[in-house]
Amino acid sequence: MYDFDLLVVGSANADLVIGVERRPAAGETVLGGDLAVHPGGKGANQAVAAARLGARTALLARVGDDANGRLLLDSQRASGVDTSGVLVGGAPTGVALITVDPSGDNSIVVSPGANARLTPEDARAAGTLIASAKVVSAQLEIPLETVAETVRMLAPDARFVLNPSPPMPLPAELLAACDPLVVNEHEARVVLGEAAGGTPEDWARGLLALGPRSVVITLGAEGALTADGSGAYDHVPSPRVDAVDTTGAGDAFTAALAWRLGLGEKLAEAAAFAVRVGAAAVTRAGAQESYPTAEELTAR
Ligand code: ADP
Repeated sequence: MYDFDLLVVGSANADLVIGVERRPAAGETVLGGDLAVHPGGKGANQAVAAARLGARTALLARVGDDANGRLLLDSQRASGVDTSGVLVGGAPTGVALITVDPSGDNSIVVSPGANARLTPEDARAAGTLIASAKVVSAQLEIPLETVAETVRMLAPDARFVLNPSPPMPLPAELLAACDPLVVNEHEARVVLGEAAGGTPEDWARGLLALGPRSVVITLGAEGALTADGSGAYDHVPSPRVDAVDTTGAGDAFTAALAWRLGLGEKLAEAAAFAVRVGAAAVTRAGAQESYPTAEELTAR
């Protein structure tokens, strides 16, 4: 019996957002609107998404001993995430400085801060927590070595889900553990390398050849493509919705997918649930604020 349905190992950032008439050029100062501070980071987003759906969820992350760190801990706890694995201190909390112009185009500076200080030693020290989860999900806004070490600490029949974002070429040992590797179109191209052309089916075939046990490619409003390693490809369509803000949709999708796989669903079945969660998330502004609860999802 596992203590957690899902452990998310990843980043926690404060997103500092200012609306501007025009994004500043080099050497220029522009006045903007009021500052909005939102809890974010792919790890924190995934944990909140899963917990809101009812999954017993824990987060392994690092934040600073500062106001942004407390904001992130508060938002996790308010959603029901177990934060006993969130380490505090060592560097300021990770921050994304975001300016958005009236057309919605943005410029973003990320300071990884404490996320970059989540070390392989931290993963080893959290061995009991890692081994207490049925599914472990990671992204790449923390050091790659920490993700690789996490995989070595999994319970023997636990499942590992990776969203390689930001994308980079991945070591074979890490790829071999992914079940599935979850990528959007951009991430698929980067992981595959320069030569990546063709259709999503071609990318899925190419990604499987790199060694993961299964692959899921998210396709925005088109839903997702699953490839389960047995040669079966399923195109899972998304519900049609009026998209308001797609921020964090991929994180909600991946968390929902990971949780349902842990409940024993087949890949295409879990993806059919995850596209409903992703579609619900794009109908509301923000990332974590946009994630549906189980009740909201049923009511849709
Ligand atoms: P990312 O957010 O990582 O770029 P995608 O854009 O592929 O990833 O979106 C992830 C998931 O979110 C999709 O598989 C889908 O379920 C949902 N989604 C994203 N955009 C839309 C949209 N316009 N309409 C409906 N669902 C969407």
